[in-house]
Amino acid sequence: MRIYLDNSATTKPYPEVVAAMQEVLQDNWGNPSGIHSFGRDAYDAMSAARRQVAGLLGAEPDEIYFTSGGTEADNLAILGVAGRFQRGHIITSSIEHAAVLNCCRYLEGQGFAVTYLPPDAEGIVSPAQVEQALRPDTLLVSLMLANNEIGSLQPVAEIGRLLAGRGVLLHTDAVQAVGKMPVQVAELGVDMLTLSAHKINGPKGCGALYVRHQTDLQPVLWGGGQERGLRSGTENLPGIVGFGVAAELTAQRWPEQARQAAAARDCFWQELSRQAPDVVVNGGWAHRLPNNLNLSFVGLESAPLLLFLDMAGVAVSAASACSSGRAEPSHVLQALGLPEWRLKSAVRLTFGWENTLAEAQQAAAIVAEQVRLLRQETAEQ
Ligand SMILES: *Cc1c(COP(=O)(O)O)cnc(C)c1O
Repeated sequence: MRIYLDNSATTKPYPEVVAAMQEVLQDNWGNPSGIHSFGRDAYDAMSAARRQVAGLLGAEPDEIYFTSGGTEADNLAILGVAGRFQRGHIITSSIEHAAVLNCCRYLEGQGFAVTYLPPDAEGIVSPAQVEQALRPDTLLVSLMLANNEIGSLQPVAEIGRLLAGRGVLLHTDAVQAVGKMPVQVAELGVDMLTLSAHKINGPKGCGALYVRHQTDLQPVLWGGGQERGLRSGTENLPGIVGFGVAAELTAQRWPEQARQAAAARDCFWQELSRQAPDVVVNGGWAHRLPNNLNLSFVGLESAPLLLFLDMAGVAVSAASACSSGRAEPSHVLQALGLPEWRLKSAVRLTFGWENTLAEAQQAAAIVAEQVRLLRQETAEQ
């Protein structure tokens, strides 16, 4: 028995995604740039996927640029704007994904100014903070729609209205939000939006940047000029086709799937808080992804707890997958101003639509038991 509660790290591909990718690998392996029938078939499959991804966001197909994933799409958005202007100011938050944060740090080294807005205790940045940080040379605001560690939701639509007509571009990393809440580019008022296929039951190594018409970006990769000049390199057709299927199914199914994930999370938390003492939730409840729970355990450290849980069949993660394996505490939890013990003992549980209530109850009993054992062991030392 294994229970997977790490859906913000990656998700299991839909069977329809696997089938579509296999078909492309076997029967539609042409180069989409080819001018013969092999190339045309590949191009047609890519165009269908572009329509599917655009449909998920309420965008036009020619506003979708396929990339190697969320990381590359974040880099393309930020470096793409920076490359056009050569100098200027960028506003972001201190709790962004490493793909945004490290990109901004790199640009600081290149002479750009960056403001990292601190969130409140619930992990939220306010439109007023963004407004106060604006400068005459501000080029770009990059704020994630939903945080990958604590699930906090940023008021991106409000910030979109604030920036309208000011000549400042708005980018949002929506990798975690898509599939769990409405994500429509017109409602958000964003110029650029990042997606990753493997966070919505698609394949790894594929993502997209939505770029609103008339937004001028400089490429990051130079080469044959694929993706209308913005992203050179022969397209990852199996990945793109799998992404397209995942996007179409997500567009149809997300309200029900988000409801299922929330039900599993809430059931888990109800059971765990009944069975295990001295557990607290990191981040606020009001503006939070429906599938996210981030917990700290009095008297424990997250690494041994993760190990115990894994041996007992429950897969969760510390802070985020990208930073686990490193010992530093999460930059997100630090930004919330949490005390040391909560940083050290934080565990992220992210539920998926496939988690049943029975599984959630079982997982809660296992976590409560392992926490009890580990606390006992720690006390005996
Ligand atoms: C996973 C993730 C990314 C990176 O996406 P990859 O496709 O894995 O490169 C970027 N931003 C957020 C918020 C994520 O959760």
